[in-house]
Amino acid sequence: MNYGGHLAGAIFTATGTGIGALVYTHKFGVSVICSITTFIFALYPDMDINSIPRKMFLPLGVLIAGLLFYFMPEYKTPAIILFCLTVFPLFMPHRGFLHSILGMLLVAFAWNSMLSMFMPVEDLKGLIYACAVCLGYFTHLILDTHFKLI
Ligand SMILES: [Zn+2]
Repeated sequence: MNYGGHLAGAIFTATGTGIGALVYTHKFGVSVICSITTFIFALYPDMDINSIPRKMFLPLGVLIAGLLFYFMPEYKTPAIILFCLTVFPLFMPHRGFLHSILGMLLVAFAWNSMLSMFMPVEDLKGLIYACAVCLGYFTHLILDTHFKLI
């Protein structure tokens, strides 16, 4: 699947996730974070190749991780997790580990762990952010399976 197809899939799935999270939690903020999470991770697997998602998320992820690490020392652990999530794909072959269910689960666990260090406990019920990652990520894997363009 090309970038345009993945972008359309990301927008569609992120909208659905946002609505689902709003119904489930009744919290607009959680819904927005879930929606953004799904959007990011519907594009994330293609960070294992020189693609538009890599050009968007690599500088942004490294910048945010660096700022967190330097200016907010109490958030060093989430900064390191974010840095690893951002840089790790550079060393992966295209359509390798990052395009697998195991990769999806590992990334979802890492993202949920990272957000759990920022969020109040009551906003984490049902591993909601891990589910948001999986929804976006799984959309990407499905689209790649059915439309092998790149
Ligand atoms: Zn892909």
